[in-house]
Amino acid sequence: KAVCVTGASGFIGSWLVNLLLQRGYTVNATVRDPNDPKKTQHLFALDGANERLHLFKAELLDDGSFDSAVQGCIGVFHTASPCVFPSTVKDPRAEMVEPAVKGTLNVLRACAKVATIKRVIITSSLAAVVLTGKPLADDVVVDETWFSEPVLCEKSKQWYMLSKTAAEKAAWEFAEANGIDMVSINPGMVSGPPLQPTVNISLLPIVKLIGAETFSDATFRWVDVRDVANAHIHAFESSSACGRYLVTGKPLHSSEVLKILRELYPDLSFPERMSDKKGFISALPAFQVSLERVKSLGIIFTPLEVSLKDTIDGLREKKLLS
Ligand code: NDP
Repeated sequence: KAVCVTGASGFIGSWLVNLLLQRGYTVNATVRDPNDPKKTQHLFALDGANERLHLFKAELLDDGSFDSAVQGCIGVFHTASPCVFPSTVKDPRAEMVEPAVKGTLNVLRACAKVATIKRVIITSSLAAVVLTGKPLADDVVVDETWFSEPVLCEKSKQWYMLSKTAAEKAAWEFAEANGIDMVSINPGMVSGPPLQPTVNISLLPIVKLIGAETFSDATFRWVDVRDVANAHIHAFESSSACGRYLVTGKPLHSSEVLKILRELYPDLSFPERMSDKKGFISALPAFQVSLERVKSLGIIFTPLEVSLKDTIDGLREKKLLS
């Protein structure tokens, strides 16, 4: 039983590979540069990797790039997408939106040619859910029927939001037109121990709290990477799974995250003062997220305290904290 994981070297991708190997699957893992040990060494250190992990070189924008990786698979987990800071990007459409959309279609096109594939799981995001134009408030419950509006993402220059929204929309259209059984997993902000030897974009707000002068006026919905990876696997294995699944925790302001971290790590230095800057996402009013569907997959959420502790311990173990 072989499955393919795209973006296998990433934060979520690496955990997916780990849990899939643990469940006895053979994993065809795609990475951009199979010769870069930073992208592959941690994968080959996983239990079962020597026997059942196969690396494939694939680039989202290269047509046909994923064709060989999905051959003979029964499932495909598509996590690869540009997760970069807009401030490091010169042309967000070319560097973020296009690879996300074209890459997703590239992967789905490869899947459409393989009869053995039973289901494709794509990693979308809460970013593809919340920006609909409908008002958000404390008592508003956002569920899987919400879909961000590309025009609104573009108007507010939220390129990552646009990349995830446009990619997910294109994926649903392609899957429907081509008879592909597809499920999307839409996580909030992902925490937890990294398997990869780098700090990815969602761990940075936690890393940045240590030794900083100020903390940001930001509220995120944290969810543990292991719960996110498990949601992907349960959505693949459960025959009744379908549609979208929001996978996220409760909204938590940075000050509340700090409170937990201070108690867990009295030896670390944390900021006392809140910055007066507010980002677009953190400025969105608080809202509730329906977890009914994801809970029906049997996902039991890791408490945030545990996830934060494992995040810091994991970062320390990998010497990613100064
Ligand atoms: P990472 O940055 O850790 O992983 C992203 C992966 O995408 C990397 O493995 C990278 O490959 C691959 N990738 C990026 N661009 C390309 C490209 N042009 N061609 C081929 N591969 C490419 O991010 P995460 O693990 O956090 O994210 C995984 C998925 O989850 C993404 O789709 C992201 O949008 C989604 N997500 C993440 C959340 C989070 O908080 N972390 C929240 C919600 C959704 P390489 O290593 O070779 O560079």
